Amino acid sequence: MPIHERLEQVYSEVLARNPGEDEFHQAVREVLESISPAVGKHPQYADAKIVSRICEPERQIIFRVPWEDDNGEIHINRGFRMEFNSALGPYKGGLRFHPSVYLGIVKFLGFEQIFKNALTGLPIGGGKGGSDFDPKGRSDREIMRFCQSFMTELHRHIGEYTDVPAGDIGVGGREIGYLFGQFKRITNRYESGVLTGKSLIHGGAQVRTEATGYGTAYFANEMLAARGDSLAGKTVVVSGSGNVAVYAIEKVHQLGGRVVACSDSAGYVLDPKGIDVGLLKEIKEVRRARLSTYVDAASHAEYVDGRQVWEVPCEVAMPSATQNEITGKEARLLVDNGCTVVAEGANMPTTPEGVRIFQDGGVAFGPGKAANAGGVATSALEMQQNASRDSWSFEYSEDRLEEIMRGIHSRCLRTAEEYGMPGDYVAGANIAAYTRVADAMLALGLI
Ligand code: GLU
Repeated sequence: MPIHERLEQVYSEVLARNPGEDEFHQAVREVLESISPAVGKHPQYADAKIVSRICEPERQIIFRVPWEDDNGEIHINRGFRMEFNSALGPYKGGLRFHPSVYLGIVKFLGFEQIFKNALTGLPIGGGKGGSDFDPKGRSDREIMRFCQSFMTELHRHIGEYTDVPAGDIGVGGREIGYLFGQFKRITNRYESGVLTGKSLIHGGAQVRTEATGYGTAYFANEMLAARGDSLAGKTVVVSGSGNVAVYAIEKVHQLGGRVVACSDSAGYVLDPKGIDVGLLKEIKEVRRARLSTYVDAASHAEYVDGRQVWEVPCEVAMPSATQNEITGKEARLLVDNGCTVVAEGANMPTTPEGVRIFQDGGVAFGPGKAANAGGVATSALEMQQNASRDSWSFEYSEDRLEEIMRGIHSRCLRTAEEYGMPGDYVAGANIAAYTRVADAMLALGLI
């Protein structure tokens, strides 16, 4: 898609300055395409090099993470923290531990996070971090040593008012506990607001664990409501089987839909009766076992090895595994099989070609920065509770989450409508978020 000529120039600068970082280029391109009408209508949104400034992280931290495994062997990983934009609040975003992590991934995730966080309407800037550390097969003590080493460097860059990390792929409650323990030990400060996703006993928030998945399901339900429908009675497919997927499935079921399949990197489980969330939690959260063991306890279900979950026909798809898992091919398959709503639980799981196929096929497409914003929104609620040394009930927190997701959904639709692209959630999300960040930056002067 063509973009405004002033933005084309910015995009060439981004390509030249960040060579080989394909995912980052992809994320920037999508935003620049979307905001072109806004820049055409209100040229101040491209003044003072505001677009170039948004595309350049405020600070990039890369560090060595040495650690020793259980056999005494030494490993060196690379740690990252991308402090991308703090116009709206402290840098906020998760940490990802996965072997695929490199600068381009952290930059794309940090860039997406700026806009996602802006869309929530809450006072949080955008950041992201992580490491190319592979937690798979590592013992609990190895995970602890890695987290301690990672925090030994990271602690000097973060703080309640500076930068507040949380979890992402490979980083859950256990890792946040070890990271918080090391932060507390090094700094001698019980600064609960420095990390979110903590356990309840250390100032964690109710519903934070569930929030990303629950939020994505609420968002899908809102998308259906906008078409005079709901999740009740719908056949749903969710990819992934991590934290986002598990709680997306749980909420879809609570809202009356049926998730018939979910996946891991090796294949997928097909359970026509509906995925048993209790069993899934036990496998993934307690036993930390492979998804294929699902069928040991549920013999009516099938584990389909080496194939893509998107071949399972569904009305609603919720990609909740990782970036670029739906290419043109998978999108085409979903459209041909009758899928009408896609809500992204993961960050950028659909390629630009996939998005085009969905939109041309009349599918309502909810991009991750809107649909999965419930996780970070609830992190902001955790920060709020930590700042006031308070803790809210599950019910109250869940009501807040639902209200926030409704707000994001209507902000997207309203903005898309205003710019003459009714029903285009991508344009609505990007324009609404970009203009909020740009307004905040312009008011702060040239910094
Ligand atoms: N990693 C999550 C995301 O992609 C959550 C970030 C947070 O809670 O700070 O939004």
